[in-house]
Amino acid sequence: MVKKSISTRDANFCFLFVGHHLYFLMARFVFGPVPSRRLGFSLGVDIIPRKYCNFDCIYCQVGKTANKEVTRKAFFEIDEVVKEVTEELYRTERTDFVTFSGSGEPTLNLNIRSMIHEIKQRVDTPVAVITNGSLLNLEEVRNDIDEADVVLPSLDAASEDIFRLINRPHSLIQVATIIEGLKRFREGYRGLIWLEIMMIRGVNDDRDEVRKLKDIVTRLGVDKIHLNTVTRPPSEVTAGRMKNHDLEKLRAFFGDKCEVISSFKERGLREEKPKWTEALVSILHRRSLTVNDIAKITGISLPRIEEELRVMEAEGRIEAHFFGDDVYYSAID
Ligand code: SF4
Repeated sequence: MVKKSISTRDANFCFLFVGHHLYFLMARFVFGPVPSRRLGFSLGVDIIPRKYCNFDCIYCQVGKTANKEVTRKAFFEIDEVVKEVTEELYRTERTDFVTFSGSGEPTLNLNIRSMIHEIKQRVDTPVAVITNGSLLNLEEVRNDIDEADVVLPSLDAASEDIFRLINRPHSLIQVATIIEGLKRFREGYRGLIWLEIMMIRGVNDDRDEVRKLKDIVTRLGVDKIHLNTVTRPPSEVTAGRMKNHDLEKLRAFFGDKCEVISSFKERGLREEKPKWTEALVSILHRRSLTVNDIAKITGISLPRIEEELRVMEAEGRIEAHFFGDDVYYSAID
C-alpha cells in the first residue's frame, strides 16, 4: 500500500515513495533495456511525441496516425535526452545497443544527429536507429544518422500501390523516392544496414511483389534482411499474419543474408520466458511500472502481460501498489 506519494522531477525521472522505498517511475525518453532478437538488450530512446509520423502503417503497434507529419522538428532538449540515456546506461547491468525508436519516426527529430553524437562521446555502447526510411532521400537526414553503428530501415513494398496500402504514407512520399534514398544511404554509410520487410498475407506476399523486393534489396547491398510478420495486435485488424512455413520459404528465396525474426518472437515468449521475465524484474527493481508501461517496453499484449504479472505476483517476485488511479508493479528484494 502507498503510504506517501510524491511526484517530482529531477534528472527527468519521477519518484514514487512506497513505504520507505523510493522508486523511479517511467523516464521521459528511455525504455528498457528490452530483450530483442535483433539488438540483444536494447535501451530504447523515444525522441518523438506519440505517433508523430509520416506513415500510418496498417500493422503499427502504436495505433493510428491522426495527422501524417513531414516537418522535422526539435522536439526536446538534446541535453535532457543525452543525460537520461547516459544515466540509464550507468544504472543498467547489460545494454547491447542504445536504440532510437519508439512511438513515431525518429528521423523527424531535427536533433537526432547531435543526440547520437553526444551519446557516442560519452559511452561505448553501440547506437542503432530504427527508421521507416522515408526521409533517407534527404542528404541532411542521411548525415544525421551517419554516426549510428547500425541503421534498421524498413521497406515493405516495391510497388507504389502496395506501399500505399501497407504504409499509408503522407501524400508527398513515394516508394521510389525511399528506394533511391536507401541506395544513396548505402553508398555513403559505413555502418551496418539491417533492412526489415514486414510480410503481410494477401498484401505483399504475391510472387511478383516478392521478386521485385528481392531485386531491390539485392541491389541495395544491405547487410541483413529481416523478415517479419504481424505478431502483435496491429493498428488494422486486416493486417494478415504469415504462416511460419511460408516465411521460411521466403527466407530461402531471399538468400543467405535473410533471417525470419517474427518466429523468434513467438518462440521468445515460450522458450525464452525466463530471460524476459528476469529482465523485467531487473527493471522493476529500479523503477515501478504500470501494466501499460510494461506492455510498451516488452511489446507483449496487455492481456498476456496481465496474466504473466499475476503469476509473478503469486511467485512472490513482484508486488503491486496503488498510486492515484494506477497500479504500479515493483520487484520484491
Ligand atoms: S512508421 Fe512506425 S510509427 Fe510510423 S506508422 Fe509505421 S509502424 Fe507506426
